Amino acid sequence: MPRTCVLILLACFLSACASQPNSTANNATASPTIATPAAPTATPELPPTPAPTPALTGADAELWAKAMKIHQSAIVIDTHNDVTSAILDDGFDMGQSGIVNGRIKTHTDIARLKAGGMGAQFFAVYVGKEFVNKKPEDGGGAARRALDMIGVVYDQVKKHPETFEMAYTVDDIRRIRKAGKIAALMGIEGGHAIEDSIYALRNFHRLGIRYMTLTHTNTNNWADSEADLKKPNVKHHGGLNDLGKKVVLEMNRLGMMVDISHVADDTMADVFEVSKAPVIASHSSARAIANHTRNLNDDELRAIAKNGGVVMVNFYDGFIDPKKAEVTFNARAKEEELKQQFPNDLARVAAEMKQWRAQYKFDKTPLSVLLDHIEHIIKIAGIDHVGLGADLDGIPLDAAPVGLEDVSKYPVLTYELLKRGHSEADIKKILGENLLRAMAKCEQVAKELSRQ
Ligand SMILES: [Zn+2]
Repeated sequence: MPRTCVLILLACFLSACASQPNSTANNATASPTIATPAAPTATPELPPTPAPTPALTGADAELWAKAMKIHQSAIVIDTHNDVTSAILDDGFDMGQSGIVNGRIKTHTDIARLKAGGMGAQFFAVYVGKEFVNKKPEDGGGAARRALDMIGVVYDQVKKHPETFEMAYTVDDIRRIRKAGKIAALMGIEGGHAIEDSIYALRNFHRLGIRYMTLTHTNTNNWADSEADLKKPNVKHHGGLNDLGKKVVLEMNRLGMMVDISHVADDTMADVFEVSKAPVIASHSSARAIANHTRNLNDDELRAIAKNGGVVMVNFYDGFIDPKKAEVTFNARAKEEELKQQFPNDLARVAAEMKQWRAQYKFDKTPLSVLLDHIEHIIKIAGIDHVGLGADLDGIPLDAAPVGLEDVSKYPVLTYELLKRGHSEADIKKILGENLLRAMAKCEQVAKELSRQ
């Protein structure tokens, strides 16, 4: 196509974007004090995403405009969004607004993904531990639950072709972003979903799964979770057992990223030893800032740097805010204690837990806390090993930091990073390029291993 035609098309696209109403983003925020700057000139490579409304009162207009220029020319990637559960269980359609009467009902919908400038969204194919023992008539077992989740992701992509396209590779993500759409990808959360079958793992890869979180909060038959190490009735392996190591190597061979969020420290150590490809923590933060075993400690941050992987920071205040993380962590032991005390009365356990939690009253978590996690990971692991995996729609609706309440607010993060002095190149790495580098390396390793 001649260059002039490209420019004309680009101009048409820009004016179409600029004229799009941004009502949902406005609903989600207090009336802004700064006028939205005009959409910046696009780089020839990527069409801009719609300009969002500034969400922070008191933002510096010039800096905001600069931040938007960076944000809109970046490929923004989030590796963990649980809206899939709302789609499957509640019949939520991504085309609907998840804001009802000014109240956030879901963190995610198409209008807000666009306002947030999302380039590639990994939908979590979350399989709760309860599905292990569920009968078909109750929606189980674990592999069936994963298949149902995958089904609704494909349904949504098919229903909204103007917004989404399925992506399976780094090239797909770049191509789809360039076409002005959002690349849709999937990651399984909870390795019990493969029901101990390497064939199931292969078939999940064929269906488009591009990462798997080895465990959820339950230790499975081949990997230990961080969440149940103290439970006496759970059989632990001391990390990965032989089947677990085989699963990791098969994931390497397939080109499915190994995800170490939720796993025990021993499991992480085994993964770093066994994996031949970069690993990710799809939704975890820094333990040195907030002491919770869902976060990575400094040795693990150094190990992921050495491995070439990426820690995708989680936004949940119960994991990132030091005081809240302490309560979130201690709540587990408290709940276990209550279960022993009232073994046949789960309602009583829930009521007692509610009362126990009520004694802790905290302010909303400021955005600066999340920035502290990002900067700590940069300090220990380096700028090439941090990204975003917010866990939105997998956390309570009011549990993200102030200013980052839903998927429309990612530009605020770019603004804050710029304000803290990070360069454009570094911000783009955090927003998505680090994940793309790690994923590309996984693809390369898969090719090499398949040839052997
Ligand atoms: Zn999770």
